[in-house]
Amino acid sequence: MATQKEPRLKRRECGTMGAHMDLLERYPGFRGRQQRLENENARRRALAFKTAQLALVTIKVVVNVVYKLPAQNISDAQINSQIKALNQDFRAKNPDKSKAPSVWSGLVADSQIQFQLYRVTRTQTSQTSFSHDDGVKRASSGGIAPLTPGKYLNMWVCALGGGLLGYAQFPGGPKTTDGVVINYRAFGITGTAQNPFNKGRTATHEIGHYLNLRHIWGDTEDCSGSDLVADTPNCAGPNYGKPTFPKASCSNGPNGDMFVNYMDYVDDAAMFMFTPQQVARMRTTLDGPRRSLW
Ligand SMILES: [Zn+2]
Repeated sequence: MATQKEPRLKRRECGTMGAHMDLLERYPGFRGRQQRLENENARRRALAFKTAQLALVTIKVVVNVVYKLPAQNISDAQINSQIKALNQDFRAKNPDKSKAPSVWSGLVADSQIQFQLYRVTRTQTSQTSFSHDDGVKRASSGGIAPLTPGKYLNMWVCALGGGLLGYAQFPGGPKTTDGVVINYRAFGITGTAQNPFNKGRTATHEIGHYLNLRHIWGDTEDCSGSDLVADTPNCAGPNYGKPTFPKASCSNGPNGDMFVNYMDYVDDAAMFMFTPQQVARMRTTLDGPRRSLW
């Protein structure tokens, strides 16, 4: 088996912020574009926002499979299972949303975003695994360039080292690397997808970043960081595995951390929801820097 040499994926590890810090240093204009998007988010927060009034948006997806071993050349069925999972999660049609603690059931939000598979590319590589340095997005480093990234959401599916499940590029970054990368062992719900990351939620989480969502703890290991969203409680750091409700930090009791949110680090079977304000951020992105996707 292709996977025997790789250690089991034990807990969620996302490379988005590491990749983001590298890109901000290399592309000075990225920071300004992010700031303008934040300004628009702030402007819209002042307006009444209702998810029920959103138009349905369809994003076309290109899946770039990059494999060394035959088992990593995942099947069309596995790819389709991922698209189906995304359509459930982003439309709040995932049956397991009923497992969210009742205090948050009123905040489970339908983003009115759906996904449609447009094309699959398959590239054989000599690389044993990739990191968050975007090597998988360039032919010169054993990967493949994105297909028309302004028009399509590009997803790369490959072996990732260091226990990484995936990473994404925030809106406003360089076109040549735009999209999300997912470990082939955490993609879809069948085939090479491995428990506890076999419900397609690594892609849900990473596309959240692609549409400008931050981790719910705000990427600081104390209470000072923010995810720039008011309807997710402030919390200290990532939650892992399958936590038991309630789990308090940062004086956020009695309900505690919203660890059931797709933007935490819990297992696939423990995350169920985006909130209305997270949806608002994603939709601001789709009306702004990612307008050409639809
Ligand atoms: Zn992440």
